[in-house]
Amino acid sequence: MFIVKRPGYDPSQKGGIVMASPIPLICPYCGVGCNLELSLDERDRPFKSKAAGRNPELNGKYLCVKGITIHELLNHEERLSQPFIRKADKLELVSWEEAVTTAARGLKDIIAKYGPESVGMLCSGKILNEEVFLSQKFQRAVIGNNHVDNCARLCHGPSEAALRQQLGFGAVSTFLEDYDAVETVFLVGAHTTFTHPIIWMRVKKRAKRGGLKMIVADPRETDLIKNAAVHLKVKPGMDIFWLNALGKIIIDKGWQDQAFCEKHTIGFNAVRKAAENFDIDAACARAGVKRSELEKTAELIHDRKTIFIWGMGLTQHAHGTDNVTALVNLALLTGNIGKAGCGLAPLRGQNNVQGAGDMGALPNLLPGHMPLEDEAARIHVGSIWDADVPTKRGLSAPEMIHQVASGKIRALYVIGENPAVSEPQSNFVAWMLQRLDLLIVQDIFPIETLKYADIVLPAAMMGEKEGTVTNAARRIQFSAKGVRPPGEAKPDWQILQEMANAMGANWRYSSTAEIWEEIRIVAPVFSGISHDRLRQSSGIFWPCYDESHPGTPRLYEDGFGFRDRRARFLPVNFPNTLMEPTEEYPFVLITGRLLEHFNTGEMSRRSTKLIRLRPSSFLDMNPQDAAAAGLSENETVRMTSPYGTVRLPLKLDVSMKPGYLFAPIHFSDPNFNSLMSAVPIDPKARMPALKVIPVKVERDR
Ligand code: SF4
Repeated sequence: MFIVKRPGYDPSQKGGIVMASPIPLICPYCGVGCNLELSLDERDRPFKSKAAGRNPELNGKYLCVKGITIHELLNHEERLSQPFIRKADKLELVSWEEAVTTAARGLKDIIAKYGPESVGMLCSGKILNEEVFLSQKFQRAVIGNNHVDNCARLCHGPSEAALRQQLGFGAVSTFLEDYDAVETVFLVGAHTTFTHPIIWMRVKKRAKRGGLKMIVADPRETDLIKNAAVHLKVKPGMDIFWLNALGKIIIDKGWQDQAFCEKHTIGFNAVRKAAENFDIDAACARAGVKRSELEKTAELIHDRKTIFIWGMGLTQHAHGTDNVTALVNLALLTGNIGKAGCGLAPLRGQNNVQGAGDMGALPNLLPGHMPLEDEAARIHVGSIWDADVPTKRGLSAPEMIHQVASGKIRALYVIGENPAVSEPQSNFVAWMLQRLDLLIVQDIFPIETLKYADIVLPAAMMGEKEGTVTNAARRIQFSAKGVRPPGEAKPDWQILQEMANAMGANWRYSSTAEIWEEIRIVAPVFSGISHDRLRQSSGIFWPCYDESHPGTPRLYEDGFGFRDRRARFLPVNFPNTLMEPTEEYPFVLITGRLLEHFNTGEMSRRSTKLIRLRPSSFLDMNPQDAAAAGLSENETVRMTSPYGTVRLPLKLDVSMKPGYLFAPIHFSDPNFNSLMSAVPIDPKARMPALKVIPVKVERDR
């Protein structure tokens, strides 16, 4: 155990309630942002999590299996409840004053020796908007650089980049009510029943009325297939081939929405020209799909209201931005955007990952999606902060870790992230984390990254602090504080304020409401939204420019987010970053998600109920492949990529395409990111190739 506990100290001890039961809050897991309520027992401890129908427009009376276990997290005995400092190679309990003073002195020493560019911040998609805002303000105004990033880098960074460059905002264009009018749902690389079950319920509700067609692009035969009119059993990572082929089929048949393309877009002719010599059959062969299936798909999207939904099967590649661009091109080609029943819907992972980007925890964007390179935006933000906003684009999360090797990054402040598990090529990451002069980790649980931490700051979670979160559909919601955090843990915004002031700032925020008022002034897209409005509503969709405005559930009804109000077609070329099998590594491993767990599992693996349902990791393999390799069900196998080896039990699964393997990402033992490569990364979104890797599988002797 790497933590020394104070004898007799009870880390799960709660400080009591601040609001009568039940406590309304937003689920801390996925980007659907379900509303739930915590009931307290006679000792004022949360003992039940349920949906009480507080938000019928969103999840009503429904939660998925993760949502009904939230009380377990607030009560958990492993919650961090005291600050720690590493002394003589052990993390020792210290006072808040010692922890903050030591952290601030460490950062100041490193800045004095190596300059402000030597400090980076990994920020979280599961803390409040107000806390993300202070995180990036800390990095920009106190540390003095733009090296701030969030977990979107490893999930929907490519979606954010592609949507912003083509449509104006790096965000979903549609909202749940569009599912009432949709005629075709096009799911690409998104196992929605597992990852976002409440969205899937909405699709099912629409399907019951009849007339809905569903297209599923997925290399696996998941439970979604039985409802699909077309299943494109694509080769993972080869999406650009089939997406471009689909575009070419639509253009060849003259099925594009010509009026929409002419009136609302630019660049259509460039895409049409790029498609002229395109070989559809060759592209189908590369992607592993039949031309007839793509022709059927074209029929189902060209004159039907279509929502394009995608997940990390499309984005987690070193060419992820180009993948998303090819899909956005299809939506523009068919005019399926800015109207009821149409749109583009990336399924965001963490509950506030949309908010993390909105609040500016990105190396190239200021709060409210204002580009860092825009001098007027920098002056505007800097004048409110009474500070100069640094001009140079910052480093992304993978780049910060790479720059530890060169000695350019000397300190990392990690808030609500677990890079030891989440970043690719874990052995390399562990080595880099050990090389840092200073690693500050702020979290709710003793995550794996704590092994390398010099200073640990215990934080509060949802239900223990109040403020706002933004769901995957841009709906900003208010989450209440019902109980006090365990022990001496504090809300992230309070910790950040103490850190900033110890570094010489003079922040005087007394609540998240005060921070939100500053956000409204800094970022005009949120100006019309106040805490009071949010407390009295079921959420407000940004942009919302003044208090009389109801918000904007559907984007682009009155034009796109550029001065000329037109969307951009962008041609995409075939990538040179494909992860293909070799003679030595003949299988392709696909990583994915389970219903019962979430991301790298720091929270869901601590739920007794969830771990009972899905206790451990496994590897799915087609029975033919297993027979050829002499492997059998449940035996432990050794799987090796060019970057690492893991051992785990084998499961035979007829839904796997021969030559492909599947494993869930949620367990730290084994950690599949130890098999992944830290390079290449997507040149536009800095996304590493996390979805697929060539491997070999052998009996573990
Ligand atoms: S994990 Fe997502 S779908 Fe499940 S209850 Fe939480 S927000 Fe809703």
